[in-house]
Amino acid sequence: MNDVISGVPQLEHHIGGQSVPPAGGEYFDSDNPATLELNYRAARGTSPDVDRAVRAAQEAFADPRWRDLSQTRRGRLLRNLGDLISEHAEELARMETRDNGKLLREMRGQLATLPEYFHYYAGLADKIQGEVIPTSDRRVLNYTQREPLGVVGAITPWNSPLTLTTSKLAPALCAGNTVVVKPSEHTSATILRLSELALEAGFPAGAVNVVTGFGSEAGQALVDHRGLAKISFTGSTATGARIAAAAASRFIGSTLELGGKSPNIVFADANVANAAMGVVAGIFAAAGQTCIAGSRVFAHRSVYEELLERVTERAGTIRIGDPMDELTELGPLAFADQREKVAGYVELGEKEGARVLTGGRQSDGGGLGGYFYEPTVLVDVDNSMRVVREEIFGPVAAVMPFDTEDEVVALANDTEYGLAAGVWTTDLSRAHRMASRLEAGTVWVNTYRAMSPMSPRQGFKSSGVGVEHGQETIREYTRLKSVWINTSQEPLADPFTMRS
Ligand code: NAD
Repeated sequence: MNDVISGVPQLEHHIGGQSVPPAGGEYFDSDNPATLELNYRAARGTSPDVDRAVRAAQEAFADPRWRDLSQTRRGRLLRNLGDLISEHAEELARMETRDNGKLLREMRGQLATLPEYFHYYAGLADKIQGEVIPTSDRRVLNYTQREPLGVVGAITPWNSPLTLTTSKLAPALCAGNTVVVKPSEHTSATILRLSELALEAGFPAGAVNVVTGFGSEAGQALVDHRGLAKISFTGSTATGARIAAAAASRFIGSTLELGGKSPNIVFADANVANAAMGVVAGIFAAAGQTCIAGSRVFAHRSVYEELLERVTERAGTIRIGDPMDELTELGPLAFADQREKVAGYVELGEKEGARVLTGGRQSDGGGLGGYFYEPTVLVDVDNSMRVVREEIFGPVAAVMPFDTEDEVVALANDTEYGLAAGVWTTDLSRAHRMASRLEAGTVWVNTYRAMSPMSPRQGFKSSGVGVEHGQETIREYTRLKSVWINTSQEPLADPFTMRS
């Protein structure tokens, strides 16, 4: 386990089932964004740590105790891990709230569903199978099999560390791979705890390894490591582009879940009260620090004023404060730079001609003094402005009117991103039309921010490559082999022609 030095916990890497101090001997601080108290110090991972972790994962991958484990048994281990997470849900929820300031009530909700992700892939483990392919010669048997890839490098962000790591870890293990995780430098604690629980669940040492540290050090070293068979990344589009290029140069695959600037569209025929709740959920839940944030709100001109009134009224009553308090609705932003970035964007928006209808200021979170920022609504904005085009990743909504369906489809799709979209309408035909016309990997109609392990998700355009969740993601963690067997004893015919 980890040491406590002068009252502050000191977290080490988790490599080969052991707690391992950093090769360079250095640690970095991680504070609580609500109170600015020092939370813990974590190992500052560098190349030798990453190398050690990848080697441990390679050894575990080759070890018959993992390699030859039946798929049913693999599923059993995933089930155990899901059960252990249930048992430790409160501990993990509190840990993550202290790390990134997410509301404890939101984290309790996430922890209630997190075991389902492991249970889903537990059920899928013994259903990974190939097919028998028809051949033109019935003496020839052709079948396929899905094989694990080897060592998967998983690099994850700080906004929902456990959930977003699970989206990679559960299917990667389900398919028989081993994993090295590099969590965000802002949120190391729960991922280290998860790796301990994996060991307790019965996964062999080395199946799940965690190297903590900075992106430019531990992250880059992991991306550059020749021992990886695959990189699975969730984070910003800029980092994703670099990772995709590095993976492609070595001909290994990458799954990338990246940024977004999602439209949330309210039609004249919508239930406006529900739509306003959907807008609030889309941009102010988790203080807007979600990739799927509905940061561009388009309202039909006939309901524009009513929607604005409802959204700003609710925004004005949002309880800002201690994320540990069950009544709090908006916690702090996760770290100082993050608040500076959000404040900078609001200032930039005003310079570009936007008007702040509500919010637009820092908050002291009821005296806690952390990185709080008020829920903010910008109007008098259009698609040419940077506040409408770029991902702010904070509680800032840009609200715009529109007149026709064609116009709003064009506006909504006029973005480099394509992660998610919301549509509010009571017209069934319009709902289906919009679902088909919007360029986004997920479309919600009369709801927002719905997610499940069973439902595949994918970012279109600059929002990503590859699928997470559902059965589909198993393809991302396996390779397909085609096996041909000639069952005939007869002499082989003409060697100079192709066979089938
Ligand atoms: P980030 O890209 O700065 O960092 C993500 C991870 O990559 C961190 O672990 C970081 O240490 C690491 N990293 C940074 N530079 C690296 C490098 N050169 N080599 C290797 N690793 C490196 O992103 P962030 O600020 O942590 O997360 C916020 C972003 O994540 C937002 O853009 C958000 O939209 C996106 N996100 C996407 C999804 C999704 O599913 N599409 C989900 C959550 C967050």
